[in-house]
Parts: sequence; structure tokens; C-alpha cells
Amino acid sequence: MEFIDLKAQYKVLQNEINAEIKEVLNDAQFIIGPKVKQLEHELAKYVGRKHCITCSDGTAALQLIYMAYGIGVGDAVFCPDMTFFASIEPACLLGATPVFCDIDPISYNISPLSLRNQIEAVLAEGKLKPKAIVVVDFVGNPADYKNITEIAKEYNLILIEDAAQGMGASLNGQKCCSFGEVSATSFFPSKPLGCYGDGGAVFTDDDEIAEIVSSLRVHGRGVDKYHNVRLGINSRLDTIQAAILLPKLRVLDKEIELRQKVAERYNSGLSEKFIVPHISNCCISSYAQYVVMFRESGRREEILEYLKEKGIPSLLYYPVPQHLLPVFEGKINNYCEDFRNTVTYSNEHFGIPFSPYISEYEQDEVIHVLNNIN
Ligand SMILES: *Cc1c(COP(=O)(O)O)cnc(C)c1O
Repeated sequence: MEFIDLKAQYKVLQNEINAEIKEVLNDAQFIIGPKVKQLEHELAKYVGRKHCITCSDGTAALQLIYMAYGIGVGDAVFCPDMTFFASIEPACLLGATPVFCDIDPISYNISPLSLRNQIEAVLAEGKLKPKAIVVVDFVGNPADYKNITEIAKEYNLILIEDAAQGMGASLNGQKCCSFGEVSATSFFPSKPLGCYGDGGAVFTDDDEIAEIVSSLRVHGRGVDKYHNVRLGINSRLDTIQAAILLPKLRVLDKEIELRQKVAERYNSGLSEKFIVPHISNCCISSYAQYVVMFRESGRREEILEYLKEKGIPSLLYYPVPQHLLPVFEGKINNYCEDFRNTVTYSNEHFGIPFSPYISEYEQDEVIHVLNNIN
């Protein structure tokens, strides 16, 4: 059994993907070729943003955003304590200071209450300028944008959506990658919309930010690439990756529907001993991962061992809260947080096999094995 069955998806889309790749090989415009432009156009339309600028990967998308807004030394960037390091790493490279916030114990997304408390604590200390919030659609579940947008407005913070896991998800019918001023996503193979290597994109409605990001991704190009007007990076998307993403984007909504069916089968099949994902009524999750917890705490090691014995893969998203990462040891201020929800989540959760194409047979096997745990 695969944790995420990418081979099954390729079998379904093989003809389309092969044909698209072949066109790129014949056309030989391998970097930002016509298919990249087409993909940017289709992605912007899909998520409901004016601009999409593709780039080399999701981390670079976030880096381009932090650079475009001039985030750096003296700036506080607020970030959920439960995410992948890449949400905040590029801001730290630019000299900004991360301020972590606890998660909500039910949605596992950034807690608006913790966010407000941390902003107030930073203001009270008076050393850093609260500058931006990076909000993550964690494991594909849209964050609480209603409350977070209000807080961002109140404190005049740039709201950045890290939708690396949220492509295809939506809140009240509005697609992830369209919240806040600017959004980033990743096309890492295992993400809800993945290519066959690295890839990423920035989304915005702001013409000026779109222009700056387009320039930054090609060494700060001006009228052409040999008239550099700012310091940038090399962060272009390969045309072959765009060719792979185009047919995948066409079936994304269908896959999101399949993901709901798979989630429903787990939700109803798993016994009361498990806490299953709670997705609010106004949200459709992309289920980038399907994570559960055993209600009785402290049993995870034993459960993971048992799953391994039974040939069922599992993974942790993520085993370590950001504030406990070795890279930050002795270097960050926790302000008023003890991160109790993040710590509980990181100690207790685990991800189980999930993909739009997992068979009912495989799912029932996972359910059967898990329900046998006493
Ligand atoms: C995967 C991921 C990234 C980074 O994307 P890459 O394409 O791997 O660079 C950033 N943030 C989150 C939340 C992610 O899951």
C-alpha cells in the first residue's frame, strides 16, 4: 500500500500527460515556454486571482513574496507553530524575526486568539515592528480567514496565505490561493496539485506586486533580462512541469470530490477511539493529508509500530512544533505562548494512507487494522 498513490493518478492521466510532455520536447522552449504562460492563466482563473506567477518551488514562492514586500530586519512575521519550516524560513533568511502562534485545537489552523495575543505582546515589548502574518491552510483545511483578515486590518499587517497544502480547497466557495494580499503554493509531487519535480506559484490581485515578483524570479529583470533593476533570484518553472500540471489541473475539482468521498469513508469507518479531521461546514478541505489521533493519549509509538507490522504506511505532519526546532533554540521569544495545542497535536497525531485513487479495499484494510487497536 502507498501512503499517497501517485502511480494510480498517472495511470488515469497517462495519455494526456505524455502528449503534453511530447509537445514540450518538440517545441524545445524548456524554461518559461508557452505552456508556462498558459498554466499561469488557467491557475489564476481557477483560484480567482488576477495574477499567477509560477516559480521553481513553494519555498521560492514564499521567498519572492517576502522579498517583494521588503520584509527584513526588525520585522515580526507571525506564523502558526504547526507548519512546515518553509512557511517562515525565507523570512528569517531576509533577517525578519518569526513569532509563532498556537493552533486551534479543532481545526489545527492558526488560532486567531493566540495571534492577537502574540501581536499585543510584540507591541508591548516594543522591539519589533509587527509586519506580516503567514497563514497556512494546514493539511488542506482552509484557515479562519474571517477572523484573521480582521486582525490583519486592525494591526495593518500584510496577510500572506501559504496554500502549499490548500490548492483545490475552498471556504464559502472561495478557493484557497485567493485569501489575503498574496498567496503561495507548491507543486511538490505529493501536494494536492503536484508536478513531477519541484514547482510553485505566487498569486495576487495587486498589479505592482505581480510585476515585482515577475522581475524578482528572473534576477530582478527590467525591460529585459540583461537590464537588471533589482536584486532577484533564479526561480523559474520548467516548461515540462507546466505540461504535467495542465492536465492535472483539469481534473483537480474531480479529484477534490473523490477526496471528500475517501475522507467520508474514513470518518464513518473509524471507531470512536479516533479523533478524525474536523472540517467546518463552510469549508471544503483538499485533504493534503488525512490525520487522526487516538483519543487515549500517549499510545502513538505503539500504534505506529503496529501499523508498520501490518504493512500500512503512516507519516507525521509534523513531528516537531516550529518553536522547538533546533534552528531556533535560544534564538526566539515565545512571548505569551506555551503552545499547548500544537504540542498535543505534534505528540498525538499521525497521517494515514490517502489519495483520490485509494481503493475502497485498501481503505477498509486501514480501517480494520486501526479499529482493532484496544
Ligand atoms: C510543501 C510546503 C512548502 C514548501 O514547498 P516546496 O515546493 O517543497 O518548496 C511550504 N509551506 C508548506 C505549508 C508546505 O507544506
